[in-house]
Amino acid sequence: MQTITLKLELQKPTKEKMAMYQKMTAINTAFSNWLLHFDGLQTATSKVFKHFSDKPFPAAVVNQTIQTVKSKKKKQKTKTFRRMWCGFNNQNFKVERENRLYKVSFPTQEKRIGVPVVCKDHQKPWLDKLLSSEVKQGTTELFEKRGRWFVAISFSFEVEQKQADQAQAKTMGIDIGMRQLATCSIGTTSIFFPGKELGYRRRRFASRRRKLGSLKKLEAIRKSKNKESDWVKETNHKISRQIIRFALDNGVHLIRMEDLTGIRHFRKSKKEAGRTLHRWSHYQLQQFIAYKAQMAGLLVEYVNPTYTSQMCKCGHVDKRNRDRNAFCCRKCGYRSHADINAAINISKAVSGLSEEKSKKN
Ligand SMILES: [Zn+2]
Repeated sequence: MQTITLKLELQKPTKEKMAMYQKMTAINTAFSNWLLHFDGLQTATSKVFKHFSDKPFPAAVVNQTIQTVKSKKKKQKTKTFRRMWCGFNNQNFKVERENRLYKVSFPTQEKRIGVPVVCKDHQKPWLDKLLSSEVKQGTTELFEKRGRWFVAISFSFEVEQKQADQAQAKTMGIDIGMRQLATCSIGTTSIFFPGKELGYRRRRFASRRRKLGSLKKLEAIRKSKNKESDWVKETNHKISRQIIRFALDNGVHLIRMEDLTGIRHFRKSKKEAGRTLHRWSHYQLQQFIAYKAQMAGLLVEYVNPTYTSQMCKCGHVDKRNRDRNAFCCRKCGYRSHADINAAINISKAVSGLSEEKSKKN
């Protein structure tokens, strides 16, 4: 079972509507903090809201908030909520289509409302699947970002794994790094997705922020961070789409990537310290590749990153085998591009599979 979240912007809400969403969020936040310290939380139903306030508030949101508070209190030991967006389950939040326009409807303080949403081309097939019940709708959150309002609809679906035809079956290794954002290798075929532009633009963002920092322009710094993360996200979506297309075109059935969750990988050396800057964007790229792969019916496995960049195909392991882009084996003299060598090692899982990460998928 695969779960993904679709974020749709509400199409130009009126000032009144935005004020209402804002107010609902404020009430819901206060209510969730009240709930956190309410003795009867475990057995609470939507009726509990009466004890908190006599204002009208949708029971659907109350129920969802009770669930969220219960789970956060238990799992994350949350002490206070800075903000609690209004959530709806699949019974209360509906997606509808009128001709070619998509609308969503949900209960508010006053009544149930239907509002049009902005829908990007790649999102339409998913909304159609929701409408035809091909995928299972989960919970939805109403949230605001930089003055715009969105709904995040989660849904889940079964993926049919591609049956590996033994003669044709291929494994692709993907090395995610700094110089090459991603290097994909299927034995003798390899492809680079350069990270130069991404690195360059991110350094520019960072240097501009340093200047702003000395001038204490906090709002501008925040805006710059948002802009950067939007841009990285878009790039990661684009690259992960291209990678999956490359995999499908080449008859790949299994994708292997390094398990980047381990801190060990990022503390290899001083040189690698720069990677911490890229950590979240690398991790995001990996997640995008994984879910797009799974949607396409490809298997995904994670390998231990321990020796992937140091090991030669002759089996010799030496840190000095790698010098930036160049791989040269100290023992047998084999030469290769360092990232391709790593991608091949990843496809072969030379350091073994990462059990923890592979189990989850
Ligand atoms: Zn060698």
